[in-house]
Amino acid sequence: MPRITRKKQIELLIISDSEVITVTAAHTSSRLFLCCIQYTMASGNEQNKSANRLHVIDWQTYFMASAFLARHRSKDPHCQVGACIVNDDNKIIGTGYNGLPMGFDDDEFLWAKRNESKYAYVCHAVTNAIIFRNTSNVKGCTIYVTLFPSNECAKLIIQSGIKKVIYFTDVKNEGADLNAEASKRMFEAANVEYKQYEATYDFQLTFVKRQA
Ligand SMILES: [Zn+2]
Repeated sequence: MPRITRKKQIELLIISDSEVITVTAAHTSSRLFLCCIQYTMASGNEQNKSANRLHVIDWQTYFMASAFLARHRSKDPHCQVGACIVNDDNKIIGTGYNGLPMGFDDDEFLWAKRNESKYAYVCHAVTNAIIFRNTSNVKGCTIYVTLFPSNECAKLIIQSGIKKVIYFTDVKNEGADLNAEASKRMFEAANVEYKQYEATYDFQLTFVKRQA
């Protein structure tokens, strides 16, 4: 640490989003010495705060978690799927979940188990994410999905110009309308890359309604 040769000191406070950095400087006849830099957390435990800032989730976790968040909107009691479309700038340009078309009252709809008729009516998560995107097109984008796209959604992905699919699982559950083999065949023919999500973080999204 440099030696302070004069008593005159300048104290600077630099305030960032979560911390206060105190810089105490001393001015000598020839040089400005920064004699002390103290990082003082604005509140809370310093070590914990530092750890939190270092361990922000990565992009792929953020996008897959967004797809999982979207699926929480689905009213299908047997199969909930979410999708999240992302462009090259890591901006989310659309999300979707499986549900009924506009005009259908999905509280009135019979979501009965093994009700085959539901497949004729439900709009899939990928379909909704593409249709309700907030940009003019999705060319070159990546789509994150909680379940591998169905053959119908695969066609839409290809035709809309999406170039990459990151899926959480391709294991069909009982209520899913999925023909993954056909989807993979079409993706390969159209040069749409698909790969399974490689988790760097475990995450849980749980919502518990508060009692009135
Ligand atoms: Zn689908």
